[in-house]
Amino acid sequence: MSKKPTYNELLEKIRRLEESVQAYEEQIDEQKILDNESRFKALSEAAHEGIFIHENGVCLEVNSAGCEMFGIDHDDFIGMHALSIFTDETKQLVVDNIRNEVTEGYEAVGIRKDGSTFNAEIRGKNYFYRGRNVRIAAIRDITSQKMAERTIKESESKFREVVENAADGILLGNLSGHMIEVNETFLKMTGFSREEIVGQHIKKIFASNALSEKPLRFDLLNKGQSIILEREILGKDGERIPVEMNSKRPHANYYLTIIRDLRERRRAAKELERKNKELQLAKEKAEESDRLKSSFLANMSHEIRTPMNGILGFAELLNSDDRDEQSRKEYINVIISSGQQLLNIINDVLEISRIETGQIKVSDQKVNANSLLKEMELFFQPLAIQNHNKIILDIPPDTEKLYFVGDQSKVRQVLTNLINNALKFTLNGSVTVGYVREEETLKFFIRDTGIGIPEEYLDKIFDRFLQAEYQDQAKQRGTGLGLAICKKLVELMQGEIWVETEINKGSTFYFSIPLQKKS
Ligand code: ADP
Repeated sequence: MSKKPTYNELLEKIRRLEESVQAYEEQIDEQKILDNESRFKALSEAAHEGIFIHENGVCLEVNSAGCEMFGIDHDDFIGMHALSIFTDETKQLVVDNIRNEVTEGYEAVGIRKDGSTFNAEIRGKNYFYRGRNVRIAAIRDITSQKMAERTIKESESKFREVVENAADGILLGNLSGHMIEVNETFLKMTGFSREEIVGQHIKKIFASNALSEKPLRFDLLNKGQSIILEREILGKDGERIPVEMNSKRPHANYYLTIIRDLRERRRAAKELERKNKELQLAKEKAEESDRLKSSFLANMSHEIRTPMNGILGFAELLNSDDRDEQSRKEYINVIISSGQQLLNIINDVLEISRIETGQIKVSDQKVNANSLLKEMELFFQPLAIQNHNKIILDIPPDTEKLYFVGDQSKVRQVLTNLINNALKFTLNGSVTVGYVREEETLKFFIRDTGIGIPEEYLDKIFDRFLQAEYQDQAKQRGTGLGLAICKKLVELMQGEIWVETEINKGSTFYFSIPLQKKS
């Protein structure tokens, strides 16, 4: 029978047993580590990423992808500090992330042996390895990925720039008809802000009746058709903006509409129309003035020839011996009045050309209106009697001392012309001459009960050379310059001239001049 082991012997046995177990376990661990290491080596060599094992930043191991990435030989890498392979700008980030045992990926800029740089994406993790705290980092060269991203970003921003600055408004709508994207041009066109538009239904930009008249044809767009239509959209302030809308569905998820603002085009068309009208009017006016000039010349020849014939004819008669004293006197009178007529014509022509060349100046005198009119009444009495007309003065009461500051001879010339015409174109009637005071002006009027002036002549009556061709011109020929001279003289005196008339009832010519000369 064996002897029972003592307690101490038992303890010794257990200790030895434990030692051998531990030795066995260590052997197993060693094997495991060796297994792991070779597996790690195999894996890391197969990886495309650079894989680094470092301790406190000092490289313990690196795979061949890592060596290639930085252009550094394996043996040179071992013992190298991680910071020497990153640019100064990104070193601190790498240090911080190592120190803080950051596991998320981050970006830094790596430096190759030849000094060139590349964008690196780093992902690190800390491990407890053979009793040491090491960090395994995987580094990826993302330069080409970055370049691709940048290219995409650049082309995206270029595209956006093009869209934002397009001459036309651009609108994207989703399948339920809500606007999901608009460009700057559309916002400028309508006055809405992006917030006011994005998310709203497309109906927001139309007046309610506009859609019932021309409905939105989503059905046709869904069939792949493009629709180009002129419509009116509503600006923020309610303005109806004429536009051309070009809509289609380029993608399963949205509609695209290009909106062309037609306001400028319409304005330009209107402007062109206006200019064409102006040109047409100017052309007609030029033709008219050409026609008037020709008729003036024809008329003038006649006007000159008539008194000229009178002068020559009666001078010849005077020359014959068999005329009595009475006849001779009559001939001389005809010669004198024909000469006077000729002089008037020449004066008119000279006057209008002097006015038109700016040779006439307006003088300032204190003029008594009543005396001027009384003088006119007296002067025209003989002519009035000739046509069996009465001259009536219509002067406001208590105006004996009414003076105005103006050019007496020019006012007299205008009055003379107008009264002369009134008496010329009135038979067995009356010509009333007077004025009314209106605030700062004196309004003269010459009212006759004569033949009146047809409507179609009214806007030309004050043009040069016009003679209305409706009356018995044989009796009442003139140069057609009288009213043109009146108008120019009145305008020189800062006044206005106009006429009111009715056929066979008579005409009233008015002209107003300021009481005091305006500065
Ligand atoms: P003229 O010297 O030929 O009369 P005016 O310029 O004075 O030229 O007048 C132009 C035309 O206007 C006249 O030929 C005549 O047809 C018309 N007219 C002017 N005054 C009157 C009037 N009081 N009544 C009717 N017609 C008038």
